[in-house]
Amino acid sequence: MGMNIQETIASPLVWHPQTAAEAWQLKQTYDIEAVYTSGGTLLRTQWESGISAMPQHLIDLSAIRGLNELRVGEAGLVVGGQTSLQSCRSNALLSRHFPMVTEAIRTIAAPSVRQLATIGGNVASSIGDSIAALLGYDAEVIWFDGTREHRALLSEWLHEASAAKRGNERLLLSVLLPFEESLGETPVSNGAEDLTSQMKRFGAYHKVGRREAFTPSVVTACINGVLTCSNVIKQIRIALGGGQTVPVRLEGLEKEISGADVDGQLLRHVYDRTIELFEPREDLFASAAYRKSTAANLIVSELWKAAKDNTKQL
Ligand SMILES: Cc1cc2nc3c(=O)[nH]c(=O)nc-3n(C[C@H](O)[C@H](O)[C@H](O)COP(=O)(O)OP(=O)(O)OC[C@H]3O[C@@H](n4cnc5c(N)ncnc54)[C@H](O)[C@@H]3O)c2cc1C
Repeated sequence: MGMNIQETIASPLVWHPQTAAEAWQLKQTYDIEAVYTSGGTLLRTQWESGISAMPQHLIDLSAIRGLNELRVGEAGLVVGGQTSLQSCRSNALLSRHFPMVTEAIRTIAAPSVRQLATIGGNVASSIGDSIAALLGYDAEVIWFDGTREHRALLSEWLHEASAAKRGNERLLLSVLLPFEESLGETPVSNGAEDLTSQMKRFGAYHKVGRREAFTPSVVTACINGVLTCSNVIKQIRIALGGGQTVPVRLEGLEKEISGADVDGQLLRHVYDRTIELFEPREDLFASAAYRKSTAANLIVSELWKAAKDNTKQL
């Protein structure tokens, strides 16, 4: 087991486990006196602002082997939880296949913080700004229960974490992004029938903050879908978050609009249902009502834009 260093009397003991099993064991041993730490950037702000007290034991996860890289696995792109946001941001595979995740990471903090901050910490916090974009790609998480690794949909993992009494205490290892199904080559069209079978992927991620840049989010929104060339929704994912809200997918709305034509009536429905279904937390900076209408406007305008661009290309 790694060395523990007590830097000053007031500082916590910092443990440096080499394996997930050791990290998990330390958490069992010290329980509520211990906290997992990755980059420590969010934890530090929480201690400094008094949101949480500095714990007696810090379990530093950065020495666990194999968690600080991106690699192509059988089920998709595996992003090790200890990968820094800066490495994620400059990774070509991530930006080629999951551009909205790269975009979301671009909007987080500033370069100096992104060098230390990790994707695992962003996700494990349950409120990180990368989460809505990850949900937009049906991301999964790989976590460790002390004996073995588990795979779970990120959306379910977040839901369980917010329902758990003591918050999220599971050890997150990696984030898994399944590659999107290829829509294939655009077929050569001979007539109207062929044209209507053509598909177009669209997507967008937005972070609305209190200022233009380097600011906490008020709303994060991700939309990712496929339209036929006659603007029928073939596939759609809508994810919303921001501020202290644990991001969610609007699965009820996604089901309602799958197979529907994008027209004025549909856009009104999307607006109304987003307001109904999204339950953001309010704080001093923005009311729930403001967050709801901002989210609904973002989703509706992206859907409208996708349909308009699609029609232009005919
Ligand atoms: C100036 C500044 C600006 C910021 N701006 C933004 C912003 O715009 N958007 C944003 O989303 N965040 C922002 N942050 C917060 C933070 O930097 C990011 O959320 C970052 O990604 C957290 O990662 P970390 O590795 O530093 O996490 P840590 O601080 O190490 O951990 C975060 C939380 O997750 C837990 N944890 C960490 N790793 C694991 C794991 N593997 N398994 C289980 N639990 C774990 C920790 O116990 C802690 O509760 C900002 C921070 C600063 C200081």
